Amino acid sequence: MMRRPLLAANWKMYKTLSEMESYVSAFLGLVSGITDRDIMLAPNYTCLGDMVSLLDGTHVVVAAQNVFYEEEGAFTGEISPLMLVDIGVGSVIIGHSERRHIFHEDDELINRKMKSAISHGLCPILCIGETLEERESGETTKVLARQLSRGLKGLRERDMKEIVVAYEPVWAIGTGRTATMDQIQEAHRVIRERIQDMAREDIAENLRILYGGSVKPVNVKEIMSLEDVDGALVGGASLEPESFAQIVRFEEN
Ligand code: PEP
Repeated sequence: MMRRPLLAANWKMYKTLSEMESYVSAFLGLVSGITDRDIMLAPNYTCLGDMVSLLDGTHVVVAAQNVFYEEEGAFTGEISPLMLVDIGVGSVIIGHSERRHIFHEDDELINRKMKSAISHGLCPILCIGETLEERESGETTKVLARQLSRGLKGLRERDMKEIVVAYEPVWAIGTGRTATMDQIQEAHRVIRERIQDMAREDIAENLRILYGGSVKPVNVKEIMSLEDVDGALVGGASLEPESFAQIVRFEEN
């Protein structure tokens, strides 16, 4: 089966509005005519609404980097799924390792966010991945299985069709240290098998699993050639339009 590649940029807490605008105008020129894959930009909150307007009618879609699970209420500093949908955002990253490790988000909170995002029609990108300590003590498979079963708890089969999973080993994010091809393929295979156990074979087969962790123009082609890799979630190397465009056009590197 052919899964449509998805190349997603996570800008983290970078870029002002004017920097976002110049990026978008340069980037659109660099990826024009590329319609056989999905291209996604996840800017910070202050850029979201303007980016949605700038990308309206193009083949590049906008995602948020986080969301809360309630629609409204006394939750100072949070943004609700209703608010994202209201401004035209279609996808959201949930459970990024920086949310888990810096902001102490646990699997239960992540699960609530997943359910809420889906019920509001947002496509959630669930991020999972082991720490260096967990990898070195041979616990990677166990950690991925736990993060999947807890993060996706209570999702119906039809919900499972709406999600994307990103495998991001914590030790490879922003460190310049990429996992080896064997480590990436093995982790993605484990994820697909686990989804098959939780849902159905065809759902697991259709699930897009992205790799994230120091993806760059020089390594993306090899990573994308792995059987169970369907795309990339890119931090640092997505901050320059030329670099992210090269990642989007991965076969040409
Ligand atoms: C990320 O932010 O999801 C990420 C993978 O970052 P980097 O590409 O910088 O490692």
